[in-house]
Amino acid sequence: MNATATTVRVAVHTPSHSGVGDLLDYLSTRSLPPGTLVRVPLGQREVLGLVWDAEGASPPPPGRSLRPVAAVLDGLAPLDAHWRRLVAFAARYYQRSLGEVALSALPPQLRDLSPVQLARRLRRSAPPQAPATATNLIALSAEQESAKAEILSKPGPFLLYGSTGSGKTEVYLRCVQELLERDPAAQALVMVPEINLTPQLEERFAARFGAQQVVSLHSGMTNPQRLAGWLAAHAGHARIVLGTRMAVFASMPGLALIIVDEEHDPSYKQQEGARYSARDLAVWRGREQGAKVVLGSATPSLESWHASRPPTLDDPVGGRYQRLCMPSRIGAGELARVRRVDMNHQPRGTVFSAPLLAALQERVARGEQSMVLLNRRGYAPVLHCQDCGWKSDCAHCSAHQVFHKIDRTLRCHHCGAAQRVPRACPACGSPDIVSLGRGTEQLEEQLTTLLTDVRRPDGTPVRIARIDADSTRAKGALQSQLAQVHAGEVDVLVGTQMIAKGHDFRRITLVAAVQPDGALFSSDFRAPERLFALLEQAAGRAGRDAAYLAAQGTRCEMWVQSFHPQHAVFEALRTHDYPAFAARQLRERLDAAMPPFAFQALVRADARTQEVAQGFLRAAGSAAQQAAVPGIEHITIYPPVPLAVQRIANVERAQMLLESESRAALQRFLQAWQPLLQATRQHPDHKGLVRWLVDVDPLAI
Ligand code: ADP
Ligand code: ZN
Ligand code: ZN
Repeated sequence: MNATATTVRVAVHTPSHSGVGDLLDYLSTRSLPPGTLVRVPLGQREVLGLVWDAEGASPPPPGRSLRPVAAVLDGLAPLDAHWRRLVAFAARYYQRSLGEVALSALPPQLRDLSPVQLARRLRRSAPPQAPATATNLIALSAEQESAKAEILSKPGPFLLYGSTGSGKTEVYLRCVQELLERDPAAQALVMVPEINLTPQLEERFAARFGAQQVVSLHSGMTNPQRLAGWLAAHAGHARIVLGTRMAVFASMPGLALIIVDEEHDPSYKQQEGARYSARDLAVWRGREQGAKVVLGSATPSLESWHASRPPTLDDPVGGRYQRLCMPSRIGAGELARVRRVDMNHQPRGTVFSAPLLAALQERVARGEQSMVLLNRRGYAPVLHCQDCGWKSDCAHCSAHQVFHKIDRTLRCHHCGAAQRVPRACPACGSPDIVSLGRGTEQLEEQLTTLLTDVRRPDGTPVRIARIDADSTRAKGALQSQLAQVHAGEVDVLVGTQMIAKGHDFRRITLVAAVQPDGALFSSDFRAPERLFALLEQAAGRAGRDAAYLAAQGTRCEMWVQSFHPQHAVFEALRTHDYPAFAARQLRERLDAAMPPFAFQALVRADARTQEVAQGFLRAAGSAAQQAAVPGIEHITIYPPVPLAVQRIANVERAQMLLESESRAALQRFLQAWQPLLQATRQHPDHKGLVRWLVDVDPLAI
């Protein structure tokens, strides 16, 4: 070995809980600054690694020879200290290994490239160009103008609370523009919840700033596309990065602004690996890197709403965010008038009440578009034998298999198991099997029948379309289906929550939620918040073009069919009074000591049997009590319980809730508890354990 070689500590992606530390020492003949990407031997393989630090590395212990770094990915600037601090924070806060978080924050293709291949990619990367200067800008409304002025002049972080259709996107565009003009090296990160919302936004940003300036980062891209986008952001060539939650880890040396659009959306929370909240990390990152952060929503999360409370006499400091309000719709448009149908007064089994059906017919006859929302795909959630009571249960999960009529299959939405629909009851042979309940497929079918005689203004028949996870499986399908709606080729759109979010539909004047009651009595304390957000967002798809409404001489409506029409969620929806709804919810949360007034973590265990899963959790809890783990005096550990869907793909699932009034205490406790969890797992009692994980700030309890 070269005598001048020094030791470097390299972060590599070791399997989590493998016991191997995730910072490994290697020898290097060159001095490698922290953040340098290298290839290093790991066991029999060679893997991508990230030089974490050089100083901390210990000299090779006598008698043990370290292996040398295999290659250095030259040509790529080291990942800067801001990025490394973000990764280190995320790993610590969400209880994962540094190497796992660091390496999974990098584009996957980087793992497979040799230095030569990478150099070739870098040569292809476009050089920086002057941003297109936007001209002919529309005049901002007074509310938009003042939100923009606040964002540009104050430090933030901001919660931009703006009604659906109040023009939040235009505020984002102007703030990005202004900050990029102020500083030629500045970059902006714009995050959206789901991939299906990105195309429209991407077009708006590309049209405003020039396609060269904007790159996307999301999981729907091919690996080469993702690498190219990532490299452009890392080099500072791309001034704007548009992406989903993963984009919060984009390397952006010039980061000056982070926007989190629809900040309430649950998809900002990663549900595997490091279970991070991209919204919360965005706020942390903004503060650390000195970038402004804007969280935007018409239905903010209660966490963000509470964090943005204005100071009062009792609470002279207020929240740590600044709240900005844009209550009015662009063009003085009105929010949808809410019509509630009491389903107790409808004939049993009614799917479309008579008044709703009449309203739909009227809209079609006037050439306007409507949207029918049902958060359940497939034809019917379960098949049932009327003779023996058999139900189409999944053999591998504690769930029903869903009936899909289109391809005559029964499919489990949890494990994916699928089979052909039986002709007769598999248990007793009776031919009397019927479907119970309904999904979007059935709604589409029923509407087709119910509206068959209705004519559009030009005398042609009504056109009905469906958008859900089934109709959009093929690549590009969703985009083309949405384009049809935008082009006015659809009169009634049936769909799941996919159609309720974000889309800027111009000619929809009626939205109906036909069966929203399911969420009213959920055991999850966030269910009312989520239902309100879904319905208010859905209502926000109607009447977005005030000029169109005026020309049609029509008003936009949101219909809700319910057996509990007076429920507080629907009352709040009726007046579109999010602040009142939030105030009431927060009061309940305060009384019950729930988030945002308390902090939670879940430990989940998956095992062959429920006993093993719960046994592991109980043992880990007792170990913490016995060892008097620091912070435990501030923690309530609840008994383990099975998950709502207890078994998936033959794996039993249980969880244990931890709660504390102090985030710091919970963090301290989790850090100190981690080794005990690992040790507990090794005990022979828990041999049937498949995996365990910690979910900090869980979204679903
Ligand atoms: P939000 O994101 O708040 O729901 P959008 O930003 O999508 O609302 O704006 C709704 C519609 O109003 C869009 O079609 C947008 O182009 C338009 N719009 C936004 N601001 C203005 C403005 N100042 N003048 C005219 N139209 C505007
Ligand atoms: Zn039967
Ligand atoms: Zn299943």
